[in-house]
Amino acid sequence: MIELKQLTKIYGSKKKMTTALSGLNLKVNKGEIFGVIGHSGAGKSTLIRCINLLERPSQGEVWVGGTDLTKLGKRELQQHRRKIGMIFQHFNLLSSATVYDNVAFPLTLTGTPKAQIQAKVNELLALVGLEEHRGKYPAQLSGGQKQRVGIARALASDPDVLLCDEATSALDPQTTDSILKLLLDINRKFNLTILLITHEMHVIQSICDRVAVIHEGGIVEEGPVTEVFLKP
Ligand code: ADP
Ligand code: ADP
Repeated sequence: MIELKQLTKIYGSKKKMTTALSGLNLKVNKGEIFGVIGHSGAGKSTLIRCINLLERPSQGEVWVGGTDLTKLGKRELQQHRRKIGMIFQHFNLLSSATVYDNVAFPLTLTGTPKAQIQAKVNELLALVGLEEHRGKYPAQLSGGQKQRVGIARALASDPDVLLCDEATSALDPQTTDSILKLLLDINRKFNLTILLITHEMHVIQSICDRVAVIHEGGIVEEGPVTEVFLKP
């Protein structure tokens, strides 16, 4: 579902260059929950941002669902991006919009008919358990509730892939577990491919099928979670 080939990202110019990713290869299968773990500065957020081309790779290929996104023009890329949902550490909600409107936002952008938007948003709010909070603003919600809005919004355009950028790092342990459980439910229910990055071992161990360890811009170890982390 996702395949990164020889992915390289170099920030800066001649004077000060930082190689964030160097020739990284990674393959994530359809329907799996794949975790990338590594220390701060290892290249995790660059990696995840390169997958939807929020960050332009310096070199290499980014295949999502059979298309190399690095080869697309602007319009085609926009269309493919709709099939890639993303959630963030700090939720990135629109603070002046209600829960309902935050979730509806990706659909309003693409001119979806109103009745269709309503049906979809209602379904998603039920899925994440926020039906009673639809009229509230982000400031009136707990962290866990905000992330539920983020998840519902990410699912609005029926993505093939969900990217999670340190999605539970701003949450307390109990809330983290409830969000991880929700992600697992969504993965099972829709066979949705999930790629997450984290610096927390607990996140990897509780929901990931496979894991890769990233260090200085490359994958240094990879495999089923039970094999990578339960070695003698
Ligand atoms: P992680 O998410 O694992 O902490 P990052 O992908 O944020 O790692 O960073 C990888 C490396 O790239 C670090 O050395 C970081 O300083 C550098 N880096 C990240 N973003 C930028 C940027 N916009 N400009 C310059 N250097 C950057
Ligand atoms: P407008 O056409 O004026 O933009 P909307 O239908 O988008 O009106 O909605 C106006 C407000 O009502 C929105 O801010 C939204 O929060 C709320 N709203 C719209 N549809 C629903 C719905 N099905 N359930 C709950 N709230 C809704």
